[in-house]
Amino acid sequence: MAKRETKFIFVLGGVMSGLGKGIASASIGYLLKKRGLAVTILKLDPYLNVDPGTMNPYQHGEVFVLDDGSETDLDLGHYERFIDVNMSKANNATAGQVYQAVLDKERRGDYLGQTIQVIPHITDELKRRIVETNKPRRFDVVISEVGGTVGDIESQPFLETIRQIRHEVGRENCFIALLTLLPYVDASEELKTKPTQHSVMKLREIGLEPNLILCRTSRHIPKSAKEKISLFCNVPSSHVIEAREVKSIYEVPLVFHQQGVGDIIADQFQMDGVHPEIEELEGFIHRFKNPNHKVTIALCGKYTELPDAYKSVLEAFVHAGVENDARVKIQWINSEELKTDDVLEEQLGGVDGILVLPGFGNRGTEGKISAAKYAREKKVPYLGICLGLQTAVVDFARNVCGLEKASSTEFNKRTPHPVIDLMDAQRKVKRKGATMRLGAYNCELQPRTKTYKAYRKKRISERHRHRYEVNNRYRKTLQKHGLLFSGINPELNLVEIIELPDHPWFVASQFHPELKSRVNRAHPLFRDFVKAAIKGQNSP
Ligand code: GLN
Repeated sequence: MAKRETKFIFVLGGVMSGLGKGIASASIGYLLKKRGLAVTILKLDPYLNVDPGTMNPYQHGEVFVLDDGSETDLDLGHYERFIDVNMSKANNATAGQVYQAVLDKERRGDYLGQTIQVIPHITDELKRRIVETNKPRRFDVVISEVGGTVGDIESQPFLETIRQIRHEVGRENCFIALLTLLPYVDASEELKTKPTQHSVMKLREIGLEPNLILCRTSRHIPKSAKEKISLFCNVPSSHVIEAREVKSIYEVPLVFHQQGVGDIIADQFQMDGVHPEIEELEGFIHRFKNPNHKVTIALCGKYTELPDAYKSVLEAFVHAGVENDARVKIQWINSEELKTDDVLEEQLGGVDGILVLPGFGNRGTEGKISAAKYAREKKVPYLGICLGLQTAVVDFARNVCGLEKASSTEFNKRTPHPVIDLMDAQRKVKRKGATMRLGAYNCELQPRTKTYKAYRKKRISERHRHRYEVNNRYRKTLQKHGLLFSGINPELNLVEIIELPDHPWFVASQFHPELKSRVNRAHPLFRDFVKAAIKGQNSP
């Protein structure tokens, strides 16, 4: 696009949270990108934590780690997967960060004795973060998703900031999309629009109104309901979009496209009518819905009742399934239950692959070690991620190298064989936030290994989030007994990937491959793991 002013899109939530603003934002980003525009997406979180790195997965779901080491909201995972751009810490701001920045300036004396207030100081800092995302100018469109719901006390400064931005850059350069819910009432057999009307009223109180209303609904929205929303909320009825449940989140951009969302935004911004290239995504959805194979993968972890804690792993299986023409059925295994051989056989006996999930602390780790042992001995394809590598190494040390009491010092501080241990740099760490080994690190792959066969290159870079490492003092012993270190970090001389040579497919990584899987590019390790699981079904 020729040099024009930056266009700002704000995606807000009405009625309640958890309706999928992240996916809506990513889908809008996708449609604009496919029109040839340069797009970035920001997540603005109104809570006071500085970042989600220290938050309980039960409260917040997965922590999504970026190349630069920042620990961010899981919606950034959707953004990266949909628009295929690597994000940075500038793409996620929490109220906590904003307040911290303002208070640091105040302590430095930057405000020259002024009284510090939410307006203008907090709003100015927020504005700076949104506007400066595009300095130097790289993007045509900056999409900002605001967490929470319109009407929350803590989102007020965010909405006020949007009002000010719109005032400053002009209405023609701003677009507000409101994602709401139309509940269905059985008794009257009706979709109700009132909660949406109330959300729009709340928005108006602060001086904003939506340009587009995305309605989550379990059924078709009749014309009359659209007209009602149109009348009461001041938008043309063609701007009331039906966002029904779909089989795959990757269908959402297509659903939006069919209802003209890209055109509506382009019209508002007076952009040329370009037809977006969505054929690739249509092909993906077709393959997703019509697979020829089916595999069952066991996911062993501790938060098995909370799929959001492992969002990226689940998405990576969607991508890898499609590339292998397979439906991947997930079987959740609570590793705390894997206590006896009978339970192991009962829970893992019928699966085509076993994945031991990342995790922290001691709880459930013996079960994970047993799951790794089961996969190793029964020759079931295995993928270990982070803790899943560490538990595989502990099993190997105990049961192959004969180091009976081997463990990780995270599970047992006094183990006589700390095959997994803290690095010296980590021993001194006292503070919790942002102090792990985080972000992108290089890794050199050993040729003629399963890992190399997956990546087909010698040097890779992957994202980390952990404190513990394979203890280099035990490398020789582990190697002598047949463990293969197929990936090493050259700068720090640390084990990044292990595999078993005499096994159909047993690979584990210290990093998190799931964070770099994309819709159009399944991660090589997930892809080959699923391939091995399919292959295993056909061998005796
Ligand atoms: N708890 C382990 C560590 O800190 C593994 C972390 C993880 O699985 N992300 O090293």
